[in-house]
Amino acid sequence: MNQIPAREPSFRESVDLMFNRAVALMDLPPGLEEKIRVCNATYTVRFGVRLRGQIQTFTGYRSVHSEHMEPVKGGIRYALGVNQDEVEALAALMTYKCALVEAPFGGSKGGLCLDPRQYEEFELEMITRRFAYELAKRDLIHPSQNVPAPDMGTGEREMAWIADQYARMHTTDINARACVTGKPPHAGGISGRVEATGRGVQYGLREFFRHPQDVKKAGLSGKLDGKRVIVQGLGNVGYHAAKFLTEEDGAKVVGIIERDGALLDPAGIDVEAVKNHVMRSGGVNMFPGPRYIREGAKALEEECDILIPAAMEAVINLENADRIKAPLIIEAANGPVTAGADEILRKKGTVIIPDMYANAGGVTVSYFEWVKNISHIRFGRMGRRQEEARHQLIVDELRKLDEHLGDAWSMSPDFKGRYLRGADELELVRSGLDDTMRVAYQACSEVWNSRDDVSDLRTASYLVAIDRVATSYRAKGL
Ligand code: GLU
Repeated sequence: MNQIPAREPSFRESVDLMFNRAVALMDLPPGLEEKIRVCNATYTVRFGVRLRGQIQTFTGYRSVHSEHMEPVKGGIRYALGVNQDEVEALAALMTYKCALVEAPFGGSKGGLCLDPRQYEEFELEMITRRFAYELAKRDLIHPSQNVPAPDMGTGEREMAWIADQYARMHTTDINARACVTGKPPHAGGISGRVEATGRGVQYGLREFFRHPQDVKKAGLSGKLDGKRVIVQGLGNVGYHAAKFLTEEDGAKVVGIIERDGALLDPAGIDVEAVKNHVMRSGGVNMFPGPRYIREGAKALEEECDILIPAAMEAVINLENADRIKAPLIIEAANGPVTAGADEILRKKGTVIIPDMYANAGGVTVSYFEWVKNISHIRFGRMGRRQEEARHQLIVDELRKLDEHLGDAWSMSPDFKGRYLRGADELELVRSGLDDTMRVAYQACSEVWNSRDDVSDLRTASYLVAIDRVATSYRAKGL
């Protein structure tokens, strides 16, 4: 991965710099501006777990950035590089992200310093349960106070452990399942959560390409069909985004960057086959066909139409920013472009669809899961058959018309089946996510296009988000 030059601001400073750029264009009282910018609290915990014959001490964090709405929301990541600065930056981004997609949450984030690949499953379970215990004890996991979710290095499995740990500690809490999202379907999860962030990237890009004036600003034209994509990271987000964009929108993945290097092929790369290869061998090296380069970060600089950094922060920085050729970058990861790189790219005319919007699909579907948990009913359970019955009425009438009109008109062969079927949970989740991504993009695009002092989508997104947070603080009478 890239070496970040020393003069680069930290992640937290980067987020603050971007925030400051936006608030300079707003008319907020200085006190309120400061209140929104700062992280309310960060809890650091060090706990010991007996593993492999000795006690190992782990360091974890849960940071709460803004409580203008509760619960606060945000993932828990497991990575060796986790530190307070990073967790606070990510918590701040959660505040803005939730505001932008109108998920009624404040912002939070957690992290544990460890490399999950170094541990057996049962060891990870012990560590996770202990971490969850420490956080739940202080209401830093709680259905109405603080609701974690998966992030880098965690997934459904960890969320199921956390949910169970919380339930053991709160045996009479009827809403215990809502203490965490991203759970597996059999443990109170919701269909479509696993791929939600990748889907959100797809829906976000589709919406971007519905705005020809925005597409033009990136020097592109047309639709997603045929666009050349380079993706960094075939983890949950990058894999799903690349898969959906190629399978459903006709985009072509011409580059895949992973830990051990990158694959490049202008003719297009089979995402599914590469994913299988990575699962088997741990990397992209030796994948037959495309050109392999060991220095993966160099592939960020290759020709393409859309660059999707979906791995980690600060990969596009002061060192490589002016060599980035992609006219459009969509930040599937959090903070992949540093504040310094952002400025260089902005001057070059690169359009960046910012993280707070681009990867908000995850928290959006988390919101649906949380609502499902506190309402104790699956989406669609009440209305689905009634919807089908009403559709049946129309189909019956159309059938009569069909008979009456003879050869002049007839129902399309698959119409009846498709129209009759009421939406299941997955379809409802997708519909809700699609709508959320469209509406949020439209709000940002509107600011971007209507204000002369707003030259980029990131600033526009901050303006929309900060304004909503400020309104909420004002309403509370702070
Ligand atoms: N970790 C994801 C994010 O950064 C999801 C958070 C959530 O679902 O609460 O947005």
